[in-house]
Amino acid sequence: MTVAQTRGGFAGLDACVHCGFCLQACPTFLATGDDADSPRGRIELMRSLERGDLSPTDAALTYHLDRCLGCRACEPVCPSGVRYGHALETARERLAVAGGVPWLARAALWALTTQGVSGVVYWFARVFRATGIPRLLAGWGRIRFAMGMLAATNGGERRGKAQRVSVPAFPRRSPPVPAFLFRGCVMEGLFPHVHGATIRTLQVNGYEVREVEGQVCCGALHAHAGLGDAARELARANVAAFGDGDEPIVVNSAGCGAFMKEYGGAFSARVRDVTELLAANGGPVPGGPVDLQVAYDPPCHLLHAQRISQPPERLFAAIPLLRLVTIAGANDCCGSAGLFTLVEPEMSRAVLQPKLEALSAVAPQVVATGNPGCAMQIGAGLAARGVRAQVRHPVELLDASYRAAGRYE
Ligand code: SF4
Ligand code: SF4
Repeated sequence: MTVAQTRGGFAGLDACVHCGFCLQACPTFLATGDDADSPRGRIELMRSLERGDLSPTDAALTYHLDRCLGCRACEPVCPSGVRYGHALETARERLAVAGGVPWLARAALWALTTQGVSGVVYWFARVFRATGIPRLLAGWGRIRFAMGMLAATNGGERRGKAQRVSVPAFPRRSPPVPAFLFRGCVMEGLFPHVHGATIRTLQVNGYEVREVEGQVCCGALHAHAGLGDAARELARANVAAFGDGDEPIVVNSAGCGAFMKEYGGAFSARVRDVTELLAANGGPVPGGPVDLQVAYDPPCHLLHAQRISQPPERLFAAIPLLRLVTIAGANDCCGSAGLFTLVEPEMSRAVLQPKLEALSAVAPQVVATGNPGCAMQIGAGLAARGVRAQVRHPVELLDASYRAAGRYE
């Protein structure tokens, strides 16, 4: 075992020269102005943890590391190439071993990701969502915000089916290229309409989307909570389920995709965000008109962790009449960050506020974003503020465009 391996992700911090270029990119530093809530400050805390100068139960250390969103906005702006995200995961694992994981995070992980449990939880959530009560109760405060989050997952009646559809012949390739769909847990439970749109739009662009038995949650939420062993176990199960072929593994949740690209080895090289696949080879195929004003909000785990910016724009450009509006601070974090919105609501809402103000000023008809957590966070915030914009995954808009073009019913 090399020294770097024994040090886990902490080795990625060695390049930090304290220049502070990352500070203005950090949403928690911008919210509090406290250097300990900045990447530079947290790097110093993590170095102290690694050296043993600070205990993993130290109150100040846990307070400031817990308040980190893990958005990784600090990575692309760092001139030294500091790998902050890996170090944070290593630190959180040490904190979880020493001090445990908050009960709320454990309960949420159990309910949302445990096979045999999550299916029942999501079924009740969908039934409750269909009553319309969550939308009526959406607002500020923990419970009302959670209602808004659930209401924001509604894809509408027509889009609520995930089954494969028959696509008339508009092939870009012959024969079609096989691709495996990663279903995930929250996406499968609350956003099956996005899987349906993913399958249909990829079919139009020359892919044959195949299902894979035995796949499980990606493990990102576990890793972010410090449960590294559980995350690695889930990763091993997914590597076994998807086999060792070379078919691309298509992911429509930016958080899952970012984490699966870090499993390592040949598996990670196969993982593709759905927008990457659609934009490959000059795609996507143009669709019919969708007369909507759309604000795009790139998820941090797409933009910063996966460094994907052009493919979603190519997707919007393939939709006639769609008007993309620029929102100030669109590239900034929304404050969702997986379970962060549940366990750190104060900081999460503080980070969300500037985004809501920018969106309210423009009032687009649709906010497009490619991550379930961001969709729920932004949707809940808009509902609480009384802004009527819908939140949609980009592939839902392309799906509507292909319907408008008559490519399928
Ligand atoms: S993380 Fe990078 S940008 Fe931030 S202080 Fe260290 S070297 Fe500078
Ligand atoms: S991951 Fe995000 S919140 Fe955490 S230090 Fe980096 S920029 Fe700040």
